[in-house]
Amino acid sequence: MRRYPAILAAFLMAFGSPVLARDIVVRSSAEMQAAIKAAQPGDQIILANGDWRDVDIQFDAQGTAAKPIILKAMTPGKVIVSGASALRLAGRHLVVKDLVFRSGQPLGEAAIVTRIGNRWAENARLTGIVIDGFSNPDRRKEDHWVALYGRNIRFDHSHFEGKQNLGAMFVVIRMPGWPLDNNIRLDHNYFGPRPVLGSNGGETLRIGTSEESLSPSGTVIEDNIFERCDGEVEVISIKSGGNTIRRNLFLRSQGAVVLRHGNGNLVESNIFLGMGEANTGGIRVINRDQTVRNNYLEGLAGGNFTAALSIMNGVPNSVINRYHQVVGGEIANNTLVNPVSILFGAGASAERSAAPEGVKVTKNLVVTDLSHAPFRVDAPTTGIQFAGNVTNISVPDGVGFEQKPVALRRGANGLLYPRNQAMADLGASRQLVAPKRSAVGPAWYRPASQSAVQPKPSRTVTIQTSGALVAALANAHDGDVLQLGKGTFTLDEPLPVRRDVTISGAGAHISFRAATLFVMEEGGSLTLRGLTISGKEAPSAVGNAVIRSSPRTMLTNYVVDIEDCLFLDLAHTTQFDLIATTPATFAGKVRIAKTQVTDLSGAVLAATSERGNAGLYPVEEIEFEQLSLTRVGMIADVLRQGTDESTFGPRFSLLDSQITESGGVRLSGVQVTRISQNRFLRSAKLEVIHSVGEPSTRITNNEFAASPPPVVSELYFKGPLRAEIRDNRLQ
Ligand code: CA
Repeated sequence: MRRYPAILAAFLMAFGSPVLARDIVVRSSAEMQAAIKAAQPGDQIILANGDWRDVDIQFDAQGTAAKPIILKAMTPGKVIVSGASALRLAGRHLVVKDLVFRSGQPLGEAAIVTRIGNRWAENARLTGIVIDGFSNPDRRKEDHWVALYGRNIRFDHSHFEGKQNLGAMFVVIRMPGWPLDNNIRLDHNYFGPRPVLGSNGGETLRIGTSEESLSPSGTVIEDNIFERCDGEVEVISIKSGGNTIRRNLFLRSQGAVVLRHGNGNLVESNIFLGMGEANTGGIRVINRDQTVRNNYLEGLAGGNFTAALSIMNGVPNSVINRYHQVVGGEIANNTLVNPVSILFGAGASAERSAAPEGVKVTKNLVVTDLSHAPFRVDAPTTGIQFAGNVTNISVPDGVGFEQKPVALRRGANGLLYPRNQAMADLGASRQLVAPKRSAVGPAWYRPASQSAVQPKPSRTVTIQTSGALVAALANAHDGDVLQLGKGTFTLDEPLPVRRDVTISGAGAHISFRAATLFVMEEGGSLTLRGLTISGKEAPSAVGNAVIRSSPRTMLTNYVVDIEDCLFLDLAHTTQFDLIATTPATFAGKVRIAKTQVTDLSGAVLAATSERGNAGLYPVEEIEFEQLSLTRVGMIADVLRQGTDESTFGPRFSLLDSQITESGGVRLSGVQVTRISQNRFLRSAKLEVIHSVGEPSTRITNNEFAASPPPVVSELYFKGPLRAEIRDNRLQ
């Protein structure tokens, strides 16, 4: 029965005159390529259900407007493209439907690419496509999930989530000799969680590149949901002109919509909901004639490059890949509720010295119940024409907003509007509606992240012997608590951590005989509570560590959280670290609190494993609090090289701690540093080295007894010290 269409197809091919559109079921790569080669307008090539592993689908065909050639799944959701695979398209009037890319990685530049060699696709539609977790296992290797070349392409009702390696997820590529008038429409798609990457290249969408950015692309991004797209400071990076971004919902996404290059773009009727989460951003304006109107932005906590709204300063006569001056354009009728940051002339510096000019800022409404005013002026605003803007909070000189009380009430659409009818024409329209979840993505796809299946409940496993600890860790589920009894646990081999586990036990004493006690592996996170850990029996080799990330590449961002622990006897060899990072691994957070470390020859955190100038670094957030460190080689050694400005971290804090006869910190390229309420006794200096971006360093209320004062230096920036160092006592 199922083979009948294939037989019919063969019959028609054999006897010519294929006047009828055919449904051709294919069950192998070879059958598929043969069917594509013979395809006539109106044909449907149907991929049999099952796993299509390591396939290079070259959909190269010529349909017609009335009779496109269709490539689709037999049953939506039942055709899985896996392994190292790609779908490549060239030709005209092609449709691809209902394919799932999972359990694999792109073969070549992208999982889906609309070119084959130097030929591209036109008048194509891709709909009902799922790409879920389809990441190269080496997070440093760059690729895309979708790379669109050509023109007149619609990509809709598709689902993307979980890209963990380098490279913008979805790109429109514009190059000399290729179509620049792309006329691409991306609509009703779900762009789901993308974790913090820890370098540039974590964008969710990028339209063009700087080289061809002065021509219009005509790409329309509408009615999509972007949820927790956290890769880097740009969720959408527009690098071309004449694009439209409208009616999208940006939900809890770290990063902003950035009009990075190109002129005459429109950002209209979008809803941004940050829910107060760190780094959630809005819209950043650069270049000429940009229109930003009728957007609603609430609870965006980002600053600097992820401010709720920022109008940047430009570089006079900028080269194509730097910052063109903001000239003309309009920012009108936007509502901003509880924004942490609104910037005028953002990024002003000796290089970025051209202030915005001729831009109209009209009828915007800014209302906050946060204690601080969000406005900041970095450059003269005399070139900005303010009219009819209102805010309830104080404004600095140069910001043309009238200050008056504004009472808000939620409308039927869930958004906030002024109660006062006299303010009805201020801010965003009452007609604004967020896209519904049911309206985006393929209706038939439910990803693991939204699964109705409950995760296994966490268990507490009581452990009395070393062997039992090894076994329990090997068989752990996420959330398990391994509760150690009193006594000594001696480990002969490193313990791999592959799940999110807690090991606790007041009165438990762990000793280890290998160079490493815990190795963080893919999927692992480690919480330690109440343990005493001794390095006394560790080998006499250089470079031991209590906790080390994997020697293999890791995609998932791991967490190490230590509280109420005691570490000792870690100084009989050199460079014995408490936590040491490895290349191509990334910790979302390292937290150590209420913990004592005595006699450690290396660093409490050695995070210098990423080198080169791409701006990679190994840990996003480092929190040290209430530590007692005695005879410790270094508190933290953190390195982020390069001049890229695209990341939120690294961030470092050291609070309420006692440091005695120990090394200091060396923080190079860290974005946020807080060192407060500590006492340093006979210890080495704190060294903070700023690179690019807007590093924020605060060293306050510390006591330096027989210890040198902190030193903050700049690698590139020329000007006054960019650090707050005050209320420290030197003795
Ligand atoms: Ca970027």
